[in-house]
Amino acid sequence: MAALLSVTGVSRSFGGVFAVREVSVEVAPGELHGVIGPNGAGKSTLFKLIGGQLRAQGGTITYAGRRIDRLPPHRRARLGIAVVFQGASIFRGMTALENVMVGAHAITRSGFGSGVLRLPRHRREERDIRHRAGKALERVGLADWAGRPAEALPLGQQRAVQVARALCGEPRLLLLDEPAAGLRAAEREALAQLIEELRAGGLTMLKIEHDVAFVTRLADRVTVLDLGRVIAEGTPAEIRADPEVIAAYLGQEVVPR
Ligand code: ADP
Ligand code: MG
Repeated sequence: MAALLSVTGVSRSFGGVFAVREVSVEVAPGELHGVIGPNGAGKSTLFKLIGGQLRAQGGTITYAGRRIDRLPPHRRARLGIAVVFQGASIFRGMTALENVMVGAHAITRSGFGSGVLRLPRHRREERDIRHRAGKALERVGLADWAGRPAEALPLGQQRAVQVARALCGEPRLLLLDEPAAGLRAAEREALAQLIEELRAGGLTMLKIEHDVAFVTRLADRVTVLDLGRVIAEGTPAEIRADPEVIAAYLGQEVVPR
């Protein structure tokens, strides 16, 4: 099957130091693809290259059969790529529903803020966005929380609000950068279940985790980055057994037995 996303030989440096160097990743439709690697490995940079927040300095990125590496972020979003960034926070002083609506505004014609004009077209669009945001909250199991201030929700549910915000634009490809970071065990479990449900619904996902155990449990395939390069790619079982992966995580050579 043709890949939904093909990252091919992509590089990006900061001040002459490569954060991502000739990285290639293939994601098949419907796949949950994990990306792991130690801190500073280039994982978040790779996501920004895919989302368009950073420009690649070499290589190509193809999505649904077309080159996207020159497109600005909002064009990629409209094509169906949604990103939940690492450490993204909710908007304080807004309800859960309003937080999710911001996600839809990001891909509408008029954009966020133009609603204040209150033109008929904008009113219709506003209603449509409210409806879609409600549906997205339902999808993440937060329908009952729509009217609550987002900052009053437990951290696990704030993460779910961010996922709903990304889902509001009905993406085909969802990128999640360390969604489980800082969550307690029960919250991680709930998030894992949500991700399972999204996968069962056919959504293609690329997910960064710092924690090897968490990502290898959920993912169909895993790409391992270290110092900006791909050091391994395969099934979770292959990754766990890979000596280079073990060495990268332990920071030492694996001594052969
Ligand atoms: P990871 O997400 O795997 O922890 P990052 O992609 O955030 O890694 O960072 C990879 C490397 O690139 C790090 O050395 C980081 O300091 C550097 N880096 C990332 N973004 C920038 C930036 N905007 N400016 C300068 N250096 C950056
Ligand atoms: Mg990161």
